[in-house]
Amino acid sequence: MEVITAIAQMRHAVAHAPRPLGFVPTMGALHAGHAALVRRARRECATVAVSIFVNPLQFGPSEDFERYPRDLDADCRLLADVGVDIVFAPGVDAMYPRPPDVVVVPDRLARFFEGERRPGHFRGVATVVLKLLNVVRPERAYFGQKDAQQLAVVQRMVFDLNLDVEIVACETVRDADGLALSSRNRYLSEEERRAAPHLYAALREAARRLEAGDLHTEPLLVAARRELPPLREDYLAVVRPQLFEPVDAVVPGEDVLVIGAAFAGTTRLIDNIRVRVGAAGEAPADRRSPEHVS
Ligand code: AMP
Repeated sequence: MEVITAIAQMRHAVAHAPRPLGFVPTMGALHAGHAALVRRARRECATVAVSIFVNPLQFGPSEDFERYPRDLDADCRLLADVGVDIVFAPGVDAMYPRPPDVVVVPDRLARFFEGERRPGHFRGVATVVLKLLNVVRPERAYFGQKDAQQLAVVQRMVFDLNLDVEIVACETVRDADGLALSSRNRYLSEEERRAAPHLYAALREAARRLEAGDLHTEPLLVAARRELPPLREDYLAVVRPQLFEPVDAVVPGEDVLVIGAAFAGTTRLIDNIRVRVGAAGEAPADRRSPEHVS
């Protein structure tokens, strides 16, 4: 496994690599969720490259950029075990020799939820993902469903800017009690860790009601919110996966996401579940989408 820090050297390495090349962008502090993305890339691609870069552009001024967990040696051991070919671990100076003037700014997709709570976050994400794709030039890039709004932004960037790469969405990996794995889970105290699965429980409750055919989101979110304490809600909502705008009513048969963010102490957890709305309820006539009107 080659570990590369310079952009020119990375360009050279990928230019000579067997194709297809699968790419997994990460911020390091790797766990079994990242490993699942890498394993999938390993199954599907001749060469696997993983980037480790804590991107300052996607952190707000009061966020955890400085204290974000960093452990390159442990990360490289995990990646070598999974059979990665190339690790790209550039420093901030390599990626941003000057403060960028030209950036990628998602618009509607970044208006609510993570985009609203973290102004500039998706601008930072989209910009660094585009830069990394331009350096690594993969046929496929692997992203986790765990960060569903980020995935939607990246998919839309690829579509809108005609990028020549296939985005592969991978299932969220969870601990046995339902908590989605995250590098930030390391911040949790024992007590906070015990409380953390309540976010998944709230999402499950909303998903159960949607699957049973509840079509109006507010009452089912009220029920789901009861599962959250002792976590403190940031948001809980139902959205359509390509839009990320709050939805009041859903339609039987459609696929929606239940998304949530909640605080365990000062640590913010995010998670989501994809669900197919059940047919038990009746859609209000004016809400039926054309494909559901017989
Ligand atoms: P990060 O290092 O947090 O930027 O994450 C890098 C990639 O790993 C992103 O595409 C995330 O969505 C994905 N990821 C993070 N946690 C998980 C998880 N628990 N299951 C699956 N993918 C994940």
